[in-house]
Parts: sequence; structure tokens; C-alpha cells
Amino acid sequence: MKLVDAHIHLSDAEYAGHVDELVADAKNAGVAALVSNSMDYATSIEALRIANKYPELVHVALGLHPWNVNVLKPNEIDDTLRLISEQTQKGRVLAIGEIGLDCKYEAIWDQQLSVFDKMLRLAESLSLPVIIHSRGTTAFIVDMLPSYNLKRVLLHWFSHPMSALLTAMERGYFITEGPPVVYSNGIREVVSQTPLTNLLTETDGPVLFRKSPFNGQMTKPSFIGDVVRAIAEVKSAKAEDVAEQIVRNFEAFFNLKLT
Ligand SMILES: [Zn+2]
Repeated sequence: MKLVDAHIHLSDAEYAGHVDELVADAKNAGVAALVSNSMDYATSIEALRIANKYPELVHVALGLHPWNVNVLKPNEIDDTLRLISEQTQKGRVLAIGEIGLDCKYEAIWDQQLSVFDKMLRLAESLSLPVIIHSRGTTAFIVDMLPSYNLKRVLLHWFSHPMSALLTAMERGYFITEGPPVVYSNGIREVVSQTPLTNLLTETDGPVLFRKSPFNGQMTKPSFIGDVVRAIAEVKSAKAEDVAEQIVRNFEAFFNLKLT
């Protein structure tokens, strides 16, 4: 089975020193592509370095994450916008991500909105798809997106509400789901309501998924096999067929042909 991890953070400090192992784990498990999402300027530079080292496997999405907007250095927003533009011109950026809004960071809501808006405008001008974090803000974000002229939209780790899922599907958005589809009834319900043509797989690592079969191990790309088998179970489909469709979705969303 050819597999894909559409959302991981290889440049996260928790993975430092382990990227070679993660890449080997991905190759062993049949993961043909990893999209490393950045959080800020430094993780963007590091993601580009990693992608340069493993060009056959690692691709990048660059952005400013809502968790980072209150710890940005002077000029970091402009520096990141410039970096993304330059690297997109060199053909090294597949998407803008991870960007979005998080309800747990209400005290910095205005800064979140301002940075998110800048990232969405950049995606418009560079004609790049976007990968969105929307904890507690999914309905709000789905409402605001039509005012942007976006190429393609991916709502990562979609959990609720179902009304926003319906709207997102009507508009042809994609969602990613990861290890929770193995053990969470809520996520399995989301998957059951999502056409297979709008679904992608992710690990979002590094995250410690505590439930069985992951049991608090540091997330690795080979978890994707379990994710695909769980989706197949929900959809009463063959895992091979699910994996094939997800690869097709990946190629369509990122405009990238996998060999
Ligand atoms: Zn993430």
C-alpha cells in the first residue's frame, strides 16, 4: 500500500535528532510523501533544510501557526511572508500551513486574526492551497473563507461541528484525519460523513497518542497504516482501495504527482 502523511511537523524541536529514523520508518511503512508543516520562521527554515535533504520523500507547507503569534520576533511576520514567496518561486512550497485560529488563545484573538488574514492573502497571491488549524473555530473559519479567493482548502484534524463539515464538503474542501480515527467515535463519525474523495491522512506528529495501539509512543509516519485500515473499516472498504484514493486526493490537493 502506498501511503501519505499530509500533515506532520518534522522541524518540531521534539523530533530534533530523530528525522533520519522518521524517514527510515516512513520508507519501511510505504509512506511515499510527508508534508512537513511549519509554525514560524525558524521551523520554516528547518523544514526547507529537511526537505532538501530528502527531496524524494519530504515536502513543505510553510506558515505562521496561531500558537506562535504572541511570541513572534520583530519582523518575523514580514520575514516569513518573504521567505514563503521566494521559496514558492523556486518551486519548493506545496501549501501555506499550518495557519488558522485557536479558541484557547482568546487573549490574542486580534493578533491571530491579523496573522491568519495575512497568510490567506499570501495564499491567494501565490495560488497555493492552505492547511488550516481550527480548534474551536471551525464554523467561524468556514464562514470567513468565501471572502478569499483560495485555490484549495484543507481543514486538518476536523472534529466538529457536523454543519461546518457539510458546508466544507459542498465547497470541495479536504479534511485530514490521523491516529484518533482508530479509537475515537467522534472522529469515526466525521469520517463516515466525509466522502472518501475529500479525505487525507496525517499524523500531526509529534503528538503522543495515548490510546491503544499507539500507547504514548512518539508519533511516527508508520502510524498511517493503522489510520488507513481504520478508515477502511468505517467505510466498509478495502484498505488498499482507500489508500489508493487517498494518494489520488493528495496528488490533487498538492498538485504533485507521486512516483
Ligand atoms: Zn499540526
